Amino acid sequence: MGVVRRRQYCGLCGQLMFEFYRSPDGHFGIVDDVSPYHDPARGEIRCPICSARYKLLERIDPTGVPVRKV
Ligand SMILES: [Zn+2]
Repeated sequence: MGVVRRRQYCGLCGQLMFEFYRSPDGHFGIVDDVSPYHDPARGEIRCPICSARYKLLERIDPTGVPVRKV
């Protein structure tokens, strides 16, 4: 129960991209300031190290992650 704090790593290079709060209903909020790597118009976020692009999901997916590789 309650909100859980998790870390999201880049699937390509393993870099920590951001931490997020996950609520039981699948919604999430990013803890860190990711504005340099976030493209709100496309709904995408980039890895700060290797620039891999990820789609930010509206909710956590069944595997527990808030992003999907573009
Ligand atoms: Zn990366």
